[in-house]
Amino acid sequence: MRRPLVAGNWKMHGTRASVAELINGLRQQVLPADVEIAVFPSCLHIAQVLQGVAGQVVAVGGQNCAVDPGQGALTGEVAASQLQDAGCALVLVGHSERRLLLGETDAEVVCKFAAAQSCGLTPLLCVGETLEQREAGKTLEVVGAQLASVVSALGIEVFTRAVVAYEPVWAIGSGLTASPEQAQQVHAAIRAQLAGHSVEVACAVRILYGGSVKAANAAELFGMPDIDGGLVGGASLNADEFGAICRAAGN
Ligand code: PEP
Repeated sequence: MRRPLVAGNWKMHGTRASVAELINGLRQQVLPADVEIAVFPSCLHIAQVLQGVAGQVVAVGGQNCAVDPGQGALTGEVAASQLQDAGCALVLVGHSERRLLLGETDAEVVCKFAAAQSCGLTPLLCVGETLEQREAGKTLEVVGAQLASVVSALGIEVFTRAVVAYEPVWAIGSGLTASPEQAQQVHAAIRAQLAGHSVEVACAVRILYGGSVKAANAAELFGMPDIDGGLVGGASLNADEFGAICRAAGN
């Protein structure tokens, strides 16, 4: 039985004041005990969030890490070891905004995934196709290749300590959501691809859906057999909305 995970990606949002307000809102939510919950604030706000959610069932993660795990001369980057030292438990790797807007390659995503695990962080690997790729019938090919780059470089066992998020690029921040059936088809393909290497690992790994998840569509998406929770962007900036999404993932 896979424990659902709902993760909130706050992206490049927040000031000390708005983060304090969001934490306060989260503390007032009734959060389901059978759902794992995590938030990914900007690096500037990680300490504030950790302090604010202390005693709550909310883990904190980074939105990115450097390709090398250790500290070094790399201006502007944050090392996985620094995230771990700051109290993070997870880190996003390969978010489409980084792949597409910042040119992050599969090879870099592999290094970041490995860096995260070497520091004891759980990587949350994001994969997904653009609208153009979907319309060309290439969804499974694109997602499959993104996943394969990690499996072939690091092996299947690394997925015992990782989470996968399927995020169709066309659904991110657009208000468009993949239908539960469209999402399920890709989630099942991801699990089948992993099962080709290890059925045990594939059955245990959590695959989240991301792309305009909100309280109104969460239950339907999370009801699909291979959808184990959500990676939530915009709606995670509203504590009531995020709380409702977390509750939708519970039993
Ligand atoms: C995301 O960026 O990971 C995301 C899913 O964003 P949104 O929920 O706003 O579509």
